[in-house]
Amino acid sequence: MREPDSLSGRHRFFADVMLGSLARWLRILGYDTCYDNRMDDEELISRCCADNRIALTRDRRLARRRALKRSLFITSDNLGDQLREVLRFTGDGVDERLVLTRCLECNSSLQPVAKREVRDLVPPYVYRTQPRFQRCPECRRLYWAGTHRERMMERIDRLLNSDPETFST
Ligand SMILES: [Zn+2]
Repeated sequence: MREPDSLSGRHRFFADVMLGSLARWLRILGYDTCYDNRMDDEELISRCCADNRIALTRDRRLARRRALKRSLFITSDNLGDQLREVLRFTGDGVDERLVLTRCLECNSSLQPVAKREVRDLVPPYVYRTQPRFQRCPECRRLYWAGTHRERMMERIDRLLNSDPETFST
C-alpha cells in the first residue's frame, strides 16, 4: 500500500531499534525517518499509527502485528541491501535534490541560514569557502554542502551498487 507524505510526496518511516544505520541513510536521502533506540514494540506501533509512518523492521513477528497498519520487513543485514529493499518498496530513485535536506541526528527538515549568522560558529576555512549553510531548527546543528555533498553522493552510489560490503556512517 502506498500513501505518500503530503509535504514531500514521499513515504515516512519509523525504523526499529536494529536499523539505526538504515535510518541514518534514509535521512541522508531525504526520507522523513524516525528512530529511537530505546523504543519498544508497543510504542513503535502506536507512533506509526498516530503519525502515518511505515514501520521498518528486522523482526518478522513485529512486521505481522495486526495493530501495525503498514510495515516493511527488512530481510537483509547488509546496509546496501536494506537501502535497496526500501527503495524497491517505495519505487523511488535517489533524488539528488533531497539529499542532505534533513538533520542526520534528529530528522528535522533543515532550514537555510544566512552566511553572516554562522561566522563564529564554523571553522574559518569553512566560512571562507562555503557559500551556503543550513541549520537544524531542533538541535541547531549546522550543515554545509561543499565536498561533503559530493562524497555523500559517491557513497550513496557505492552503497546502492555494491555487493555485500560493510558500510558504516
Ligand atoms: Zn537536528
